[in-house]
Amino acid sequence: MSLLKVENVYKTYVEGKIKTDVLKGINLCVEKGQLVAIVGQSGSGKSTLLHLIGTLDKVSSGNIFFDDINLCKLSDNKKAKFRNQNLGFVYQFHHLLTDFSALENVMMPLQLQGISKAEAKQKAMYYLDCVNLSSKANFKPRELSGGQRQRVAIARALCNEPKLILADEPTGNLDEQNANLVFNLFKDLVKKQQTTLILVTHDNDLAKQTDRIFCIKNGIIED
Ligand code: ADP
Ligand code: MG
Repeated sequence: MSLLKVENVYKTYVEGKIKTDVLKGINLCVEKGQLVAIVGQSGSGKSTLLHLIGTLDKVSSGNIFFDDINLCKLSDNKKAKFRNQNLGFVYQFHHLLTDFSALENVMMPLQLQGISKAEAKQKAMYYLDCVNLSSKANFKPRELSGGQRQRVAIARALCNEPKLILADEPTGNLDEQNANLVFNLFKDLVKKQQTTLILVTHDNDLAKQTDRIFCIKNGIIED
């Protein structure tokens, strides 16, 4: 059985009298442990689809199944719980908390899960080490380079051991060399941990390194 099944999903944004039909019947399946890319031109609806899968926005119609759960039918409370328990997010801009150290940023989701401070610290250090940043644990985001910040964001997404990681242009803000380094590290960690990853990217070279590419065009997945 697939980990994720997106079934005939439509999304229309309505702003006043203006309606934008962005997704017009998206169907896709992602298997457990798979690393898939979602590609498409700017404005094609990649982020929209990722937000829907991440339960951060509501479909106009259609269904999204995660294991056997229909995410579209969950209450807002249950969605929040679902996200905390099952999902990790990485964005183009790191979204780290600026007043906290790298270590504290990675500890945050663990502590929100009710894990003790000592255990959260140990686990966060382990994941900072995985992204080769244990020596920068006490640095604030502004004291880190762009690539290092993204690596902290990756450690933060991985530390809860989520079943699915949703990454929206995680290396989009980095130069090519750094983007490759960070992506390779990310990919290796995800494979090692047998996590499933959905990567949104406009970079075809990165997309080619995944198990499967879905291309959005005119609101549907192009074959
Ligand atoms: P991509 O990530 O592929 O660049 P997006 O999913 O961000 O594309 O956007 C797809 C389309 O939906 C764009 O035309 C964008 O302007 C529109 N859109 C995205 N978010 C909103 C929103 N919250 N309200 C209205 N329109 C939106
Ligand atoms: Mg986008």
